[in-house]
Amino acid sequence: MARVPAGVQHLHLVADLLLDRGIVDRIRRFVAQHPGPLQIATEVATLQLETNATGELPWDSAMARLTAERSRRRWPREHFVCLLTPTPNDQHWFCLPDRDGGRSAIVHVDDWGWITSAPLEAATSYNLVQAVALSAAIASKLDLIDIVHGIRADDPHRGCLADFCADKSQIVFKLRTADICGDCLARAESMGVPEAILRQLVSVLEACRRSALGTARYLEEPRPTSDAWPFPVAVTKDKAVQTRDPVERFSRLIDHFDSMVRFACIARAALEGKNIALGPRPSLGDWVQQLRQGTADPATHEAVRMIEAEGIVHLRNEYKGHGYVRSPSEYSDMNTHLEGVLTDLAARLLSPLLRTPLVIVRGTDLEDGRHVLFGHRATGSNSMFRSWRQQLPEGVDAPRAGIDNFGALALWDETAARCHPLHPFLREEICPACRHPRILVWDGDQYIDVQIGHRVRLDA
Ligand SMILES: [Zn+2]
Ligand SMILES: [Zn+2]
Repeated sequence: MARVPAGVQHLHLVADLLLDRGIVDRIRRFVAQHPGPLQIATEVATLQLETNATGELPWDSAMARLTAERSRRRWPREHFVCLLTPTPNDQHWFCLPDRDGGRSAIVHVDDWGWITSAPLEAATSYNLVQAVALSAAIASKLDLIDIVHGIRADDPHRGCLADFCADKSQIVFKLRTADICGDCLARAESMGVPEAILRQLVSVLEACRRSALGTARYLEEPRPTSDAWPFPVAVTKDKAVQTRDPVERFSRLIDHFDSMVRFACIARAALEGKNIALGPRPSLGDWVQQLRQGTADPATHEAVRMIEAEGIVHLRNEYKGHGYVRSPSEYSDMNTHLEGVLTDLAARLLSPLLRTPLVIVRGTDLEDGRHVLFGHRATGSNSMFRSWRQQLPEGVDAPRAGIDNFGALALWDETAARCHPLHPFLREEICPACRHPRILVWDGDQYIDVQIGHRVRLDA
């Protein structure tokens, strides 16, 4: 068995022309946070690939293209080369190593958003290190079928890096263990894999694992995923993603939809200086109407048309409000469809709002003769908000920046150096039901604690 040499291991990335370059950068940065012998080359090559009649990449011809590319670029045979592509392959694998031991692999960059709360770069980095590990093993003359678990009946899944997921959603279990089993570790030792590489590998895997946990939002460190999303929307998505039971998941998806519509409505009204004209018991349908009437933004109007065309409000009333008994598989189908619609809605409703992050302004300071706002940034699904500080332009104080009350939630517009308060529609208060400080969202004469789902009345 060929031994793995000590020292730097080079990895070249090749990006499919169809892949968003921003994603490649995020993956590079994710791995680079865990320095070690495996180093990703700065230059990223690109490749245009041909698909078969069903729009999939054929393993053999795609690998032949990659092999041709690596010889064209004269990358040494000890170097690893990974192609990142958004196109699925005819094997339906996340990572396809070169079976001929060429240290090349193809990694499918899938849309993981509804499978796991782990960000895309974490899940892809997992597959990237798996691709390198499998390629190294094959280059050491091991047979792929002997390495991966879950193909042979006598070798089931183990929560190991070498698990093969026949059903793509199983990746969520691998990500949560992000482990290497005893057999595979013994194999790595017999291949002579240096300890420094294993340490680096484990460090990347551990970062993937933490980001994929159901409890991730209670971990103190902020996560990059939907980090910029306003808390009420990010937390409801996280809860939906973490729920596997189809009926319960449907209910959470509707909550997430509700939260997204409300937030978009409240934010639009604040940014455009409009009123929210809703009665004491607004229904979900009323919010959607308000969203249409409350803004001139074309993307929002497109989102409203989509909501109506998809009949989501009707869907909510029919399935959630009246408790029809449906089979779990019907819910699973509806969920898959709804997740796609929600992704499109988020692109239209939330993406334009990302330049005005949700903040809680706690107070003001003077720094070098200029006013500084300080408080917390209420974005991402972790309720331990990160602190936020913002120096204001010369001569601008808190009132001139739009702040009349401290402790209020607001959208911060950096370009205009201005806060847009969201009171009374979004408030941070002690929830009367759970007695914890929570972000409460206006619901007519009541408020909703979006994190837990409490519906409460506030005295003032
Ligand atoms: Zn294993
Ligand atoms: Zn509560």
